[in-house]
Amino acid sequence: MKLHPLFIVSFFIVHCFIVHCSFFIVMPALDLALSQFQKSFHSSPQFIVRSPGRVNLLGEHVDYNDGWVLPVAIDRATYLAARKRDDDQLSIIAVDLDSHIQLPTSNFELPTWSRYPCGVAHVLREANLNVSGIDCAFSSDVPRGAGLSSSASVELAFAVAWQKLGEWSLSKMELAQLCQKAENEFVGVNCGIMDQFACAHGEIDHALLLDCRSLEWTPVPLPQGVAVVIADTTKRRELGKSEYNNRRAACEEASRLLGIKALRDISLEEFNKREHLLPPLIAKRARHVVEECDRTLMAVEALKRNDLESFGHAMNESHRTLRDLYEVSCMELDAMVSAAQSLEGCYGARLTGAGFGGCAVALVDASVAKDFEHELAKRYEKATGLKAEIYVCKASEGANILSDPSDPKGL
Ligand code: ADP
Ligand code: MG
Repeated sequence: MKLHPLFIVSFFIVHCFIVHCSFFIVMPALDLALSQFQKSFHSSPQFIVRSPGRVNLLGEHVDYNDGWVLPVAIDRATYLAARKRDDDQLSIIAVDLDSHIQLPTSNFELPTWSRYPCGVAHVLREANLNVSGIDCAFSSDVPRGAGLSSSASVELAFAVAWQKLGEWSLSKMELAQLCQKAENEFVGVNCGIMDQFACAHGEIDHALLLDCRSLEWTPVPLPQGVAVVIADTTKRRELGKSEYNNRRAACEEASRLLGIKALRDISLEEFNKREHLLPPLIAKRARHVVEECDRTLMAVEALKRNDLESFGHAMNESHRTLRDLYEVSCMELDAMVSAAQSLEGCYGARLTGAGFGGCAVALVDASVAKDFEHELAKRYEKATGLKAEIYVCKASEGANILSDPSDPKGL
């Protein structure tokens, strides 16, 4: 079934003004996906998928220690306009990269970006799920490679599209797990489940507390009047991979010496008593993880009480231990975080993601968010000579079909 052009126009207006209230940010990616689809396939799409990026508020470098993370799906997303084909071809246009692949007929070397949708198709087929032929165009306003999970947002967009076209149905967690598998095995990135989990499960005005061992999760309401501000240092990660592997190895060694399965299995109190069993560097690394697990659970309780001061303090403490104990910060992230922490209306700030560059995240009083954004960019540039990219975000919903005549709830 195709969308009526009038429906699309009114959908734009409703979507941009009411659902997102950020016309200038959201319009282009959605618009680009749609107009490219119409231009290339000479018809309207059957439906549009919206799939968000994510940012982690608290719980850093704890996912591989079976700990707790607290991501938020953000109001920046990948938009995928799609329709079913009668044959098995996958005709996929990455609008932002001006690149088109047609599988299996393309006879040129496939571009890197195509590993994400093709990886998803591959794992879905392996799971005996129907992956139908598709004509589609996608565009995203999640910055690529900035640590806001543009990759997971692309993967989930395709998984949701093929679910719709194939008329099968999996839980959000199952979709997230398959997308993680695609990224692990097809793209070759050893990521945990957090990114795909957050893109799939996002809820408006909520953060998501995920237990990385049991995969149990709870939405945690964000208090009214608070903005999630993401500040990209624009410094890209160097040495990231080897340092990341070193940190993982240190955590495994600490667990072995303490006789536990993972660092999430020791309380802070117990760790204080037994820390002397560890060599100094391993103890430093492990202390960050044990404190971070403890503070994430405490901070979630604070959030539930609307106690933003305590939550912000936990974010500041997280940055301190990531910088001083886990040693994954860098000059640019430290400059961004201390500038943010010194500004009025900021409850707390810290580096987010693996570190060594990428983004910081701050929780800010929404009424001063615009001034905060402006002043933060100014101070960061003064300290580093670099221009920051700053995004004032809201917690948004997870990957879903945006508009579908047979499913009006999608709007
Ligand atoms: P992050 O997930 O932090 O943004 P990654 O390196 O994991 O960074 O993923 C970025 C990659 O995902 C890009 O290099 C590209 O291959 C793919 N990708 C993300 N967004 C898009 C997009 N809009 N169009 C095409 N490919 C994209
Ligand atoms: Mg990624």
